[in-house]
Amino acid sequence: MMKNLVEIADPHFIVDLMYAGTTHNITGRPVYVEIGMGNHAYVHQDLWQALQKLVPYLDKTGRRLKIYEACRPVKAHERLFAAVPRDGFFIPDAGSSPHCRAAAVDVALVGADGVELLYPTPVDAYNPYYAAEVQSGRLDGFFEYLKKAALNCEDKTIPETAVRNRDELRALMEGVGLVPVPRLHEWWHYELPDGRTDKYPLIDF
Ligand SMILES: [Zn+2]
Repeated sequence: MMKNLVEIADPHFIVDLMYAGTTHNITGRPVYVEIGMGNHAYVHQDLWQALQKLVPYLDKTGRRLKIYEACRPVKAHERLFAAVPRDGFFIPDAGSSPHCRAAAVDVALVGADGVELLYPTPVDAYNPYYAAEVQSGRLDGFFEYLKKAALNCEDKTIPETAVRNRDELRALMEGVGLVPVPRLHEWWHYELPDGRTDKYPLIDF
């Protein structure tokens, strides 16, 4: 294990990495199992410090934060890119993903009843219909649907509750010092402010 990495193992957080299973990911393969990482979420200790600041809120509300993605080793990133080598999915250069620096997480809140809150799209905008479309090279519909994943999307077809939950998650994550993805195109992604710099070296193991 690399220095400065912490494995998330705390009951306030649910670790369910989307690339460790096959039911919720665009590649249709359990890439993290294939590379021997399995369903383990690692983050830089600076990111862990920020996430721990959520605990009072999680205790008060009975909610938990589900971790869909955390550290993505370079080898894993290369596998993901190879599985979906199309524009608009994985960046060819692992160095430009803060996940590969253990400096980003993809998250959603789960209610006290164990059910994930309603958001404008699923995390990673994955759903079986669009996954099948993408796998067969039909991208237009997917990208149209993906617009709803933007943090600033005002599409009137998104339920009010989903917008409120999205905005509340943003306030919560920004409140502990994290920032959204720069282009604001993913409501679920939060990273350290310097998470794209060499302050957080690329991870490979
Ligand atoms: Zn992300």
